[in-house]
Amino acid sequence: MKNQSHIKTVSFHTLGCKLNQSETDAIAADFKHNGFEIVPFRSTADLTVINTCTVTNEADSKSRQIIRNAIKSSPQGRIVAMGCYAQINPEDLSAINGIDMVLGTNEKYRLLEYITQLETKVVDKPLVYVNESGDIENYRESEFISATGRTRAYLKIQEGCDYFCSYCIIPFARGKARSRQIVECLAEAKSLVDRGYRELVLTGINIGTWQDGSNKLVDLLDSLSIIPGLDRIRISSIEPNTISDDILHLLADRPTICPHLHIPLQSGSPEVLNRMRRKYQLTEYFDLADRIGNIVPDVAWGTDLIVGFPGETEAEFAETLAVVEQLPFSYLHIFRYSERDGTIAAKLPNRVDFHVKKKRASILREMGAKKKQVYNRRFLNTVQPVLFEMVGKDDLVSGMTPNYIRVKIAGDESFKNKICQVHLTKDCSNYLIGEISEQP
Ligand code: SF4
Repeated sequence: MKNQSHIKTVSFHTLGCKLNQSETDAIAADFKHNGFEIVPFRSTADLTVINTCTVTNEADSKSRQIIRNAIKSSPQGRIVAMGCYAQINPEDLSAINGIDMVLGTNEKYRLLEYITQLETKVVDKPLVYVNESGDIENYRESEFISATGRTRAYLKIQEGCDYFCSYCIIPFARGKARSRQIVECLAEAKSLVDRGYRELVLTGINIGTWQDGSNKLVDLLDSLSIIPGLDRIRISSIEPNTISDDILHLLADRPTICPHLHIPLQSGSPEVLNRMRRKYQLTEYFDLADRIGNIVPDVAWGTDLIVGFPGETEAEFAETLAVVEQLPFSYLHIFRYSERDGTIAAKLPNRVDFHVKKKRASILREMGAKKKQVYNRRFLNTVQPVLFEMVGKDDLVSGMTPNYIRVKIAGDESFKNKICQVHLTKDCSNYLIGEISEQP
């Protein structure tokens, strides 16, 4: 399609989560399709778009800093700030000198429609389009088409969350939980397969709550798993209370569904979990661990942990350490608690000292590295299918097994986007080295 506008070059930058990244990809793909040239961020561009994050106060300040840098890099170009921070606090962003437009969570998908306004804008003040009712209900189904430009694409199936964990601003930034229709999800999955993607990662804010009529997540997974040509479906982060035995059985029985779950625990202390207002008790998490152990014992099981939540005592942190020690996690993502204005947690007393948080995070990180090694080593001297993605700086070609182990072999670009059977021979702490057992 020919681009008639004076804006020819567009650059994008994303802060925050994978979902935000997948949404930027979708919007950038829309621009490309309409004849715009996508240029690297920080190069001079006619239009620079920053998809912001607001998960913590720190994320807000990082978003503001990136926007200011973008204004410096492209003083003559137009600057748009959009997404979660824009939704929660458009006033903050409008106050930045040099911003031309602020778009909220819904409005960001209409950026292309606003191009003419951006071009003809004469007033100094930014144009602000943010649905202020707080009811972020209406969204276009077509907004979700997204591909990462790699072997793997994100398939967004869900938006928003109704859980209101005490530290999280997401329900305010992205609205109530709502699911994309099953027909839409399947159609996009097929289209991504036709475009050459071999692995799809399901994304959303709280994907375990996905529902379309009587169809639950397990039914969606079931339908996705039999799409011809789709080799892998990976579930991204999923809340523990939404994982049924049926889902675990699908993971165990369907070769196309990766045996990989990322299940946020956040804390091993029942009191801290209560203060966090998480939707499960520690006993339920352990019950889930038993079910996983019985149904899909080899699963790669990652988790998120927050250290230094307000009031977290040494004893409560020790409880987390004991739980993490006990559960067979294959990797850990550790976050130091960071305040977010507007959340219940930001008003809780007994903030944990920065250095204490740092120390606790480093103890858990060390534990995570060991856990990862123990898990990876279980697969040494076995043959696993590896989907290759890229050649690294070390000149080795690297890819992932279905259970999320990074594997590297001697190879070249010709391996990219191919699945090969690889004999895993050597542990290199973060990844395994292997040898081809069967040529692609
Ligand atoms: S489950 Fe909790 S942490 Fe996750 S998005 Fe919902 S409110 Fe936020």
